[in-house]
Amino acid sequence: MGLTTALALQRPGVTVTLIDRLTPGSGTSSGNAGIIATSSVHPEAMPGLLSSLPAMLLSPQGPVRLRPSFLLQQFPWLLRFLAQARPQRAETASVATSALSKPALRFWDGLLQQVGLPSPFTRKGLLYAYGSPRSFTEALRDNAYRTRRGITFEVLDGAAARALEPALAPSLAGAIYAPEAAHHPWPQTLSDQLFERFRARGGLFVGGAVAALAREGGQVRVHGLGAQPLADQLFLCAGAYSATLAKQLGWPVPLVTERGYHILHPAPGLELTRTVLFPELGFAATPMAEGLRLAGTVELASLEAPPAWDRAEVLSRNALRMLPALRGPGVKPWLGFRPSLPDSLPVLGAAPDAPQEIFFAFGHGHLGLTQAAVSAACLAALAEGEAPPLDLGPYRIDRPFPLF
Ligand SMILES: Cc1cc2nc3c(=O)[nH]c(=O)nc-3n(C[C@H](O)[C@H](O)[C@H](O)COP(=O)(O)OP(=O)(O)OC[C@H]3O[C@@H](n4cnc5c(N)ncnc54)[C@H](O)[C@@H]3O)c2cc1C
Repeated sequence: MGLTTALALQRPGVTVTLIDRLTPGSGTSSGNAGIIATSSVHPEAMPGLLSSLPAMLLSPQGPVRLRPSFLLQQFPWLLRFLAQARPQRAETASVATSALSKPALRFWDGLLQQVGLPSPFTRKGLLYAYGSPRSFTEALRDNAYRTRRGITFEVLDGAAARALEPALAPSLAGAIYAPEAAHHPWPQTLSDQLFERFRARGGLFVGGAVAALAREGGQVRVHGLGAQPLADQLFLCAGAYSATLAKQLGWPVPLVTERGYHILHPAPGLELTRTVLFPELGFAATPMAEGLRLAGTVELASLEAPPAWDRAEVLSRNALRMLPALRGPGVKPWLGFRPSLPDSLPVLGAAPDAPQEIFFAFGHGHLGLTQAAVSAACLAALAEGEAPPLDLGPYRIDRPFPLF
């Protein structure tokens, strides 16, 4: 988010400084599944969640794990998240998710063209594959959301899905194919190229951790970097780490991290043409530059909790059920931090009390790669005092998050 926003803000006469304690894009944005998920319009909390959650949590190999410490520290977030599963709230969140995800590739292409980079995406669509007939039937019911959002998709039986991806298990119940989605074959390369372009176009980079942000008149003081610069306009894009900084600016938000893992199979013994997502197991398999990346699952735990590497190994074990030819072992297990709000929508827009000085772009949850370019275009328009390309009302930082 920081990289796309910084690039979108660059204009003659405007100096943009990017601050990051890491190499930009090398954190959570480097290890995701690479999907530009134009077809993913379902919020994480969907109707029926309450009845399915206990089984998910009780299975050690299930897609969701809840650490007891999270339950103690973030119980109100959990209540707010469950409250979002009401049908009308899920529908509202789906409309707002779709507004950011459906045009994602168009905005990515626009940004890349603007900075002189070729489009790097593999445009072979996205396959949502289901092992059990019950999950497949439920998924077909949820397709109504895609129909209402105008998403193109095809329903495939197991044989038709295997015709697209022969590596899938013969027992597959069925799949949903979204032909307009795409994937990036190595997201870190995308970030590296964006960073190179940012600097080549005159962007400044300060490597260091922001300790605190403080409002001073119409400006924002950035503490912790030695010089303590004053920014005329500040854009907060610190992913899962944004909550403390937003609070210092006067805007507390219920932001947590849904932690996720990946593991790489450098010589997987099989070929996929496109990303295959296994929603009932909570992960995706993406053919990438260095092998097959298995990425996903949700672990509700704090940013500081130690990694649970068995979650990464579970990815390989579960993948064997759907991709029986998979060869192991997986290597380089990785942990990332999805920034998540209870309604699965980001915070995107200006601070209501400082509409020309402070801007937010964080909390993109499972869809940060998808939505990074469209979000950046929205902020760049606001910064110029122009109308953003879409209504930012649903993403306001002061929107309500009801407990029930
Ligand atoms: C396993 C997994 C799979 C995923 N798959 C996909 C996918 O296929 N498609 C998709 O669209 N999304 C996917 N996502 C989600 C996506 O990766 C995230 O939404 C996205 O990376 C968030 O980007 P960000 O820029 O907001 O945060 P980050 O990438 O975390 O960047 C935040 C930056 O802020 C910096 N920072 C934080 N605090 C400070 C501070 N105090 N001072 C200085 N710097 C600071 C950090 O160093 C970091 O570089 C996946 C996520 C995971 C975990």
